[in-house]
Amino acid sequence: DIKHKGGNQYRLCVRDSALEDGEPLFLKERLIREALTRGWLCLYLQPIFQAQSPDLDAPSLLGAEALVRIHHPDLGLIAPNEFIAAAEKTGQIIDIGNWVLEEAAVILSEWQKQGIETRYLSVNASVMQFRDQGLLHKLESLIERHPIRPRQLIIEVTENLMLDNEDSLRFQLEAIRKLGVNLSLDDFGTGFSCLSYLHNLPFGTLKIDRSFVMNVQTSRRDRELARIIVDMGHSLGMQVVVEGIEARGQAEIFRAMGVRAFQGYHFARPMPLQAFNARYSSSSETRMCLLRAATPDD
Ligand code: C2E
Ligand code: MG
Ligand code: MG
Ligand code: MG
Repeated sequence: DIKHKGGNQYRLCVRDSALEDGEPLFLKERLIREALTRGWLCLYLQPIFQAQSPDLDAPSLLGAEALVRIHHPDLGLIAPNEFIAAAEKTGQIIDIGNWVLEEAAVILSEWQKQGIETRYLSVNASVMQFRDQGLLHKLESLIERHPIRPRQLIIEVTENLMLDNEDSLRFQLEAIRKLGVNLSLDDFGTGFSCLSYLHNLPFGTLKIDRSFVMNVQTSRRDRELARIIVDMGHSLGMQVVVEGIEARGQAEIFRAMGVRAFQGYHFARPMPLQAFNARYSSSSETRMCLLRAATPDD
């Protein structure tokens, strides 16, 4: 299959999924194995802000999304787009996913210790983690072993997940909700957006994909589409989060639509945990808690 790349450039597209990123799967398998055994995985946190803050230049922090990277000693930082798909093919996503959840529990426990009671941490999960109820058991064990409030943990799943066995999935999602853990439907609008799933599965949050945000200022059609999704989420009682906000104008449009939260480069990029903790220290939140505790009729 030969594709035209513009000018007189042509690119040969090999229709073998293992080669689709230009690198054989076994190389990625080895990279991931090394990352897992040598401790090269790391989490970056991207802040998520209150969208209805009166001052969009200083919105208040609601929480963060945990985003995994490989910190390679020679190659530097490797983004998830380079290895998550491969990890799903090899099954290594189970080990990566478990590592991410353990790290998330440590982060939440630390926040808990600092008196941060409301900030949430959102973690991505892949379809494979739902096999044999693995994710459910993992979450049960996390809650048992760590002093975390389940409410502060959110599991993000992409809507493509919904193509899997629906009954088994529904059972697990409901069991996870019963643990108190929240569920968020990620990348909404990019896959097979099946309305009955939205209606029937216990998602509290809907995350609108970046592709609906990019042209929201210039394209009336995109703006109307975005509005329909936001309204639909709200009428189903969900909180709507918009990701990929890169400009203030985009934030203003979505704020007017009444969305709950913003995430995007315009506000903050994903950053290492230390940087996140330094920038969003607990002091301001602790003060708020003390004030609240001092108000008897609250
Ligand atoms: P996602 O879950 O939709 O995460 C949001 C992605 O959008 C992140 O990319 C984030 O850095 C990026 N992003 C946020 N704001 C902006 C913006 O304003 N502009 C642009 N251009 N991008 C923005 P990242 O960290 O490269 O992650 C990519 C994807 O990899 C994630 O998409 C998620 O699907 C997957 N992923 C990341 N961490 C994990 C993980 O621990 N487990 C699993 N299964 N998947 C993960
Ligand atoms: Mg996500
Ligand atoms: Mg997303
Ligand atoms: Mg995305």
